[in-house]
Amino acid sequence: MSDDGCNCGSSQCGSDSCSSGGCGGAQQSFLENTHELNSIKRVIGIVSGKGGVGKSLVTSMLAVNMRRKGYNVGILDADITGPSIPKVFGITKKAEGNEFGIYPQITHNDIKVMSVNLLLDKDDSPVIWRGPIIAGTVKQFWTDVIWGDVDYLFLDMPPGTGDVPLTIFQSIPLDGIVIVTSPQDLVSLIVKKAYNMAELMNVPVLGIVENMSYLKCPDCGTEIKLFGESKIESISEKLGIKVLGKLPIDPSLAELCDKGEIEKYNADYLDYAAQYIEEKFAERSNKNMILAVATDGLNVSEHFGKCETFTLFEIVDSEVKSKKTISTIGNQHGNLPPFLKTQGVQTAILGGIGGGAKQGLLENGIEYIAGISGNIDEVVAQYIKGTLKPGAGECSGHDHGEHSCSCGNH
Ligand code: ADP
Repeated sequence: MSDDGCNCGSSQCGSDSCSSGGCGGAQQSFLENTHELNSIKRVIGIVSGKGGVGKSLVTSMLAVNMRRKGYNVGILDADITGPSIPKVFGITKKAEGNEFGIYPQITHNDIKVMSVNLLLDKDDSPVIWRGPIIAGTVKQFWTDVIWGDVDYLFLDMPPGTGDVPLTIFQSIPLDGIVIVTSPQDLVSLIVKKAYNMAELMNVPVLGIVENMSYLKCPDCGTEIKLFGESKIESISEKLGIKVLGKLPIDPSLAELCDKGEIEKYNADYLDYAAQYIEEKFAERSNKNMILAVATDGLNVSEHFGKCETFTLFEIVDSEVKSKKTISTIGNQHGNLPPFLKTQGVQTAILGGIGGGAKQGLLENGIEYIAGISGNIDEVVAQYIKGTLKPGAGECSGHDHGEHSCSCGNH
């Protein structure tokens, strides 16, 4: 036990310093439930290190792309102080509500949109609010807005890695983030910060999009690199994340945005990104697979490294075909990931897990969903339905020196 009273061996640590992130250990879950009339399958945050790099544009284009594939799509405009989503879609009507909640507005192609601009009298009224009010408004867009059935909800996050984005990360269960950057950014630093924030909060980074990558000469087609050579490949390699796309500066795109007609834009720059997101999430719910759950027998074990049993679920056509419990004694800690691999495991569901063990799982090609607690059968049923979200209750305190963790997995 450390001086601050936090024992990060627990995945449900309620220590004050822990919940503030001070000890780097386990964190309390602050996740909020969405409105009871909502069924939202995937929530994807679009983040950037600073404003003006094209985050809202990429959010909008991804939403349009997914809508064209036939999905029900929503955009939650969490960029409260710089809301631009309604404008690029040409939405002028305000949001309406009744005793059940607030209804989003709908674009020409039926994308649902909620933004603070749909609540303000005038679009150009500045939002001069302090952080907690801003974060509270975003939370309400999640808890009080009646989104209905949505396959993909895209969150246009506030820029940066400060207090407001952090609160959003803690309160809305994100399935993944896309980082948007531009070549003139202090790219590697900014991408690394966004990456670290997502990693701390247990949210997978789906990839990076580089906006304003180049300008295409309208006469000869030459690509002019206004901001110099792109560094995005080397960063993505260093961090092990995918480049999902590169967008040129395109005056015709800016013009469509100004006219509120982004849905008419037809270039394929983000097709790969949309396809990747689609495949990534379809794969999870349909795949025939072996799923391992760290367990004490009935419930998900609090700690991966010292867990003595795993229950393996064989999933075929989205149903549990068989289930067996195996002992890990003799194969714990660093040996666990390769041991699970020999059992044919593709995905693991866990409570707390340290950084080294996460790395070990990834190196063995095993995806994981961490910070989970509760009955193993119920958790697996949620996984198959696609509603199991990573929790914030994981132990990330394995590489800190002074803080003593009881797991012995250092
Ligand atoms: P952010 O959300 O990061 O603050 P926006 O997406 O609102 O940035 O983009 C800022 C402005 O730059 C918008 O007016 C947008 O139309 C324009 N813009 C962004 N990316 C491009 C691009 N690739 N080509 C043309 N205009 C762009």
